[in-house]
Amino acid sequence: MNDNDNIKRMHELVEIINNLNYEYYTLDNPTVDDSEYDRLVRELQKLEELYPNEADPNSPTKRVGGKINESFAKITHELPMLSLANVFTESDIITFDNRIRKENIIPKYVCELKIDGLSVSLKYVNGELKYAATRGDGVVGEDITDNVKTIKTIPLKLKEKIDIEVRGEIYISKKTLQKLNAKRVKEGLEPFKNARNLAAGSIRQLDSSIAAQRNLDAFLYHLPNPLDYGINTHYEALEYMKNLGFVTNPNNRLVDGVDGILNYIAEKTKERDNLEYDIDGVVIKLNSIKDQMRLGSTVKYPKWATAYKFPPKEVVTKLKDIIFTVGRTGQVTPNAILEPVNVMGSTISKATLHNEDYVLEKDIRVGDYVVIIKAGDVIPRVASVKYERRIGFEKPFKMTDTCPICGEHLVKKDSNYYCVNPKCDAKHIESLIHFASKGAMDISGFGERIVEDMYNLGFVKRIPDFYHLDTCINELMLLEGYGEKSIQNLLNEIEESKKNSLERLLFALGIRHVGFKTATILARKFVNMDSIIQASYDDLNTIPDIGSIIAQSVKEYFENSDNLKLIDELKELGLNMKYLGKVVENEKIKDKSFVITGTLNIKRDELKDMIITNGGKVIESVSRKTDYLVLGENPGSKYEKAKDLDIPILNEQQILDMLNSKK
Ligand code: NAD
Repeated sequence: MNDNDNIKRMHELVEIINNLNYEYYTLDNPTVDDSEYDRLVRELQKLEELYPNEADPNSPTKRVGGKINESFAKITHELPMLSLANVFTESDIITFDNRIRKENIIPKYVCELKIDGLSVSLKYVNGELKYAATRGDGVVGEDITDNVKTIKTIPLKLKEKIDIEVRGEIYISKKTLQKLNAKRVKEGLEPFKNARNLAAGSIRQLDSSIAAQRNLDAFLYHLPNPLDYGINTHYEALEYMKNLGFVTNPNNRLVDGVDGILNYIAEKTKERDNLEYDIDGVVIKLNSIKDQMRLGSTVKYPKWATAYKFPPKEVVTKLKDIIFTVGRTGQVTPNAILEPVNVMGSTISKATLHNEDYVLEKDIRVGDYVVIIKAGDVIPRVASVKYERRIGFEKPFKMTDTCPICGEHLVKKDSNYYCVNPKCDAKHIESLIHFASKGAMDISGFGERIVEDMYNLGFVKRIPDFYHLDTCINELMLLEGYGEKSIQNLLNEIEESKKNSLERLLFALGIRHVGFKTATILARKFVNMDSIIQASYDDLNTIPDIGSIIAQSVKEYFENSDNLKLIDELKELGLNMKYLGKVVENEKIKDKSFVITGTLNIKRDELKDMIITNGGKVIESVSRKTDYLVLGENPGSKYEKAKDLDIPILNEQQILDMLNSKK
C-alpha cells in the first residue's frame, strides 16, 4: 500500500474503532470479538507511528473508554481513571521491564488477575460510602451509587472512619451469567453475550432493583493516593484495602523480575478456566509507589503498569477467496484464502473448508468475516461465520465440478468430490509428497517444493523413482542448488528409508482411509506385507478398530494389479516389508484408550506411535470410556472433562514409565 492508501486506512480505522467503542462502552453490546478489536487498535497505532502528522488528535488510541450516558448524574474524578497499555507476548513483557530498568529502577512487581468487568471508583467520607462512579471517559464518570449499594461485598461502612477513594472492578460470576441466560432463553429473550457486558449493563441500569437481581460482585485493586495513608508500595495498599473491609483478589502476588511475571502468567493461564469469574489477562504493576510516580502516565495509560492479554483461542478475519486443491486420493477440497491473521503465535492465511456440505451447511461466503480455530497440531479451520457482519456483497459458494489441475469432470462419492483421472499431475505430486513426508517414509530432504520440482523435471514420476535417483547423480548435479554433498545426503536418506518398519510403508502408500494409526494396527496384526495382501475382507473387518469401510478400502487396494506391481517393485528395490515393532504387548497399555491434552516434551505423534505400538488406542475426546488422560502444559477443556468424569490422569513421566514397564 502507498502512503495515501495507508493514511486513508488510518482515518477509516478511527471511524471503525470509534463505532466499536460506542457499541462496547455505551450500548454494552459489542459486535466484534475483543481480539479483533485489539488487532484493529494495533493496526491504527502502527499507522499513527508512521504518519504522526496525519494522525487524528482525537484518535481512540489517545482517549480512555467511551462516551458517558447522559441519563446518569456526572461525577468528575479527582484523579483521572486511566486504562492500561496492553502486551501480548513474552518479548513485550521483556521490553516493558527493560524500559523500567533503563530508569535505574530495580523493579519488584505485583501480578494480578485482569478481571473482565468494568472499573469503579468508590469514594468514602468519614468511613461511609458517599458515591460510586464508572470510569466514563476517564475524566468524568457516571454516578452509579445506588446500584453499587446493592453489591453485598462492597462495604457501606469501613472499619475506620476515614476519607478515602478506592478503585476496583465490578464483575458477574460465570455461574450467574449461566443462570440468567438460562432464564432468558426460557423467556424467549436473546442471551447476554458475556459476563463483562452483562456486568456493565447491569451496573448502568437506571432502576437499581434490576442491578440488585444481578448478583454483582467486586474486587478492589487500586488506591489512588497511597502516600496520604503512609503507604509506600502497591502490595501494602492491597493489604490496607483488605483490612478496611474490601475484597481484594487472593491471587495477587509480589514477584521479582520477568521470570516471576512469566511464571505467574503460565500458572494463571492454566487455572483460568477453573476460576468462578472471567479474566482476560494478567495485570503487572510496579510495586514501589515512589517509582510509579517517577514514571508517571500518558493521557491514556500509567507507564508503571501493563496488561498482558491472553491469546485468543479463536480469531476473526475476512475470507477473501475460496480455492480448490487436489489431494493424493484425488479428493478436491475447498480452501479459504484469508486476510492474514495471527492465531496463537502463527500467521494464518489459508484454512480448510473440508467439503461442499460443510461450506453449504454453514453458508460460508467469499467476503464473510469468519472465526478461525487452530486446535493443537490440526490444520486451521473456518469454524463459523459472523453473519451479523454481512453487508450484502458476499458471494455464495458453488462447488467446482472440474479438477482445478487437469480439468477432468469430478465424481461425487459420499460428501466428497474426486478427480478420477489417473494421469492428473496434482494427485501424483500429492501422493509423492505424502510418501516422503515426515509421518510416512520420513525422507527429510524431500519437502513439498523439491518433490514438485523433481516431478516436473521428470526425475520422480512414480514412487519407485525415489529409489532410482542414484542412477541420475550427474543430471541432478546440473540442477541449481544441488551440490555433490547435498545429493549424497539425499541419497543416504532415501537408502535409510528402505529400513522403515512396515507401518510407515503402509501409511506412505496412501491407501484410502488408512492413516498411521490404522497402518500400525494392520502391521502389528499381520507382521508382513504378504499376509496383509492375502487377508480376506473378514480377516480385516474383525480386527478391533478396523471397520467395514477401512476393510473394504484395504481389500480394494490390494486387489488392484497396478498396486501389487508397485509393491513387488519396492520389494525388489530392497524396501523392508516387515513389522519391526514389539509384537509382545504391554498389558498395562493393551486395549486401553488414552486422550492426550496440552504440550509435552515428547512429540505428540511420537507418543501416539508408542501407545499404539504397545497395543493401546489414542482418541481425540474424553468420554466415560477413556482409561487415561495424558496431561501436558496448558491443557485444554479435555482436562476439565476428565476431572469431572474421574478419569485417571498421567503426567508425561508416568505414561513413559508405563510404556517402558515390564509386560
Ligand atoms: P483494558 O480492559 O485493556 O484494561 C484496563 C482495564 O482493566 C481497567 O480499566 C480495569 O477496568 C481493568 N482491570 C481488571 N483487572 C484489573 C486489575 N487487577 N488492575 C487494574 N485494572 C484492572 O482497557 P479498557 O480501556 O478498559 O478496554 C479496552 C479493551 O476493551 C480492549 O482491549 C478490548 O479488549 C475491549 N474492547 C472491546 C471492544 C469490542 O468491540 N469488542 C470495544 C472496546 C473495547
